[in-house]
Amino acid sequence: MSISLLIVDDSEFSRNMIKRALPPQWDVTVDEASSGLEALDYCKSLQFDVIFLDLTMPDMDGLDVLKALGERGYQSKIFVISADIQASSKEIALERGALDFLAKPINVDKLTSMLQNHEVL
Ligand SMILES: [Mg+2]
Repeated sequence: MSISLLIVDDSEFSRNMIKRALPPQWDVTVDEASSGLEALDYCKSLQFDVIFLDLTMPDMDGLDVLKALGERGYQSKIFVISADIQASSKEIALERGALDFLAKPINVDKLTSMLQNHEVL
């Protein structure tokens, strides 16, 4: 059965970069959200197995998205994919349920091993 993935990033360029970096053997169905609010809206009606979450977004940042999903008890494997991830943000993201982090620009091998480490690939 195909895994459902939501890519949350305000940059279309980043979303496309992430899609291109997905392991070809990964059986996945991809949805995209271009803002935190849009992501929360999707998650109201859809259950995603995996979420890739940007931190820096204009309307609502990734940390706020994590908080909101946590408050709803939303169950998903959430990975932060962001350009610069400060130690303090990392700590908050982990507290709020993120599983792991990947820096942009994406390294395909690192993405693959992160997914394997968390048994989604
Ligand atoms: Mg961004």
